Amino acid sequence: MSRLRWAVRRLLSVAEDPEDAAGIVEAAPPVPLREIFRRFWPYTRGGRRWLAVILAFVVLGPVVDAAEVWLFKIVIDDMLIPRNLHLFLPIALAYVGFTFLAGILAFADDVTSTWVSERFLLALRSELFGHVEGLSLGFFERRRLGDLLSRVTGDVDAVETFLLSGIVNALAQVMRLGVFLGVLFFLRWDLTVLALVIAPPFWYVARRFSRRVQAASRERRRRSGSISAITEEALGNIALVQAYNRQRWERDRFERENLGRFRAAMSSARIGAVYATIVDVIELVGALLVMGLGIWELVRGRLTLGGLMVFLTLLSRLYGPIRGISGLSNTFYSASASAERIIELLDQRPQVAQAAAPRALVRARGAIDFEDVSFRYPGSSTQPALSGVSFRVAPGETLALVGASGAGKSTVAKLLLRFYDPEHGTIRLDGHDLRDLRLDDLRNAVAILLQETLVFHGTVRDNIAYGRPGASDDAIVAAAVAADAHEFIGRLPQGYDTVVGQRGRLLSGGQRQRLAIARAMIRDAPLLVLDEPTTGLDAESGRHILQPLRLLMRGRTTIVISHNLVTVRDATRIVLLEHGRVTDQGTHEELLGRSPVYARLHRLHGADDVTCGPSPPETTRRRLPRTPTHRTPPVHIR
Ligand code: ADP
Repeated sequence: MSRLRWAVRRLLSVAEDPEDAAGIVEAAPPVPLREIFRRFWPYTRGGRRWLAVILAFVVLGPVVDAAEVWLFKIVIDDMLIPRNLHLFLPIALAYVGFTFLAGILAFADDVTSTWVSERFLLALRSELFGHVEGLSLGFFERRRLGDLLSRVTGDVDAVETFLLSGIVNALAQVMRLGVFLGVLFFLRWDLTVLALVIAPPFWYVARRFSRRVQAASRERRRRSGSISAITEEALGNIALVQAYNRQRWERDRFERENLGRFRAAMSSARIGAVYATIVDVIELVGALLVMGLGIWELVRGRLTLGGLMVFLTLLSRLYGPIRGISGLSNTFYSASASAERIIELLDQRPQVAQAAAPRALVRARGAIDFEDVSFRYPGSSTQPALSGVSFRVAPGETLALVGASGAGKSTVAKLLLRFYDPEHGTIRLDGHDLRDLRLDDLRNAVAILLQETLVFHGTVRDNIAYGRPGASDDAIVAAAVAADAHEFIGRLPQGYDTVVGQRGRLLSGGQRQRLAIARAMIRDAPLLVLDEPTTGLDAESGRHILQPLRLLMRGRTTIVISHNLVTVRDATRIVLLEHGRVTDQGTHEELLGRSPVYARLHRLHGADDVTCGPSPPETTRRRLPRTPTHRTPPVHIR
């Protein structure tokens, strides 16, 4: 007995690999079904009127069905048994009529249901995308992109199943149940009551199974998220994977997650199959009871043959909805696993929120003021990235931030763009606390050039115009000329219409950077942040972008983060950062004179000075696609 129980438990278990139960993506917290309905119902807004139309079809469908079955009774009792043909024509016509009607209803039902579902998907998916897009950078640094992709695509579909198809289905089944029960009661109420003895066991079994189905579905969705995450990470960094011969390792990782998904799918299938078998047995018991009593009644002459046949046919149709309704709870529970993953995303709040009544900023002058700013990355328990940082930049001034890798230079840029808010202290633009400004206005006021040049899959023209949507062709060309990019663009196969490939793989590092300068140029923002713009470029390419960079900096407040001392020498003031603190400020000469740390930095990066030494021509240097390993090697100053 205990062996049997053990076997059943194993059969119904949601398989997990104990060594790998955690997977690479965590499961979302559970949410009750009612809460899920409450959260997603608003997205049906545009389609609710049509939902009513669908319900009308849902009512009509079973009525037509029942009428058809009734015709069958007439065929048996009034034609077959008395061997009478005179009713054939009207019955045949009635069948044709019903079939047409059923066809039209099915067509209208399909089209409207699809319309309502797709509208719902459209609304939910757009909202989710917009919401995720608006989350803070910190969120993306903690999450796996692939898992987010899988939530925005696959899980959203499952929620549709949960909400619309689920509800419409449930209502359709209830309607069928009502209509068939009504006819059955009309025909023989006693047999009908007997037939209904199976309903309670149905419910009981359904309830017992739904939790298991939900657990298996959760596991499956979580694994799907992990699979997307690994695919995205491995293929996105394919150069790194291949260069370090990590294909086998990546494939094993990928297979492990797929195996997890496979096990979850098998659990689902097993649970589903056991459920279906039990349901079949219950149904059979009910049908046999009714059939036995029905035949008894037939023998006693209290029921016609047609009556019995119709009764049994209707009964088989009645069991469909009963089975359907009890099975629906499985559908709901399995879709709720996806709903939980979406609700978890929707519940994420951006760490950086706009003030309730933000101040508009038309055109910033460009005065920046960091006052005693301290900041620690969320979730990092180590040292603060910045502590007590204060400096000012006057409009049009160029300030250089220098310091060893990890000193906090890029963090300053992130705070200035309000990717994060400081823990203590205040950052001001033109005297206004950044937290009081409209976020759009603040970011419109800044053009940023990163060491990892961001280039989209698209044409050169699109990439430049990204800085200012709707820019005219003349403006684009003017920006490219100023960025010294016009000439190389002219040499590309389709000029400005050349598609540069994902992350600009078809361009060299220097070309990508000049494209980025053109984009910043066309943005024409009063503030400019240059985060190590010459990193990763050889001396020749670095020299190439200096002139356009200077042009870009003209008349703008610029914060340049660089160890390239040529760009630094252009700065009106230099701020030296060490372990998140400002340890000195001054001009290049002043710092060189009094700061041993600065002098050491200067010595170390003398080689980076782009005015030094010849190097291969820029066009022959193609860099590997960007991978995380491409960050500048850290410079440790002790
Ligand atoms: P720099 O630009 O001077 O090289 P950063 O500003 O990038 O330095 O980093 C400053 C410190 O903050 C470093 O110790 C770094 O490890 C840490 N840090 C940077 N980014 C993050 C992040 N997203 N989450 C946690 N810590 C971070």
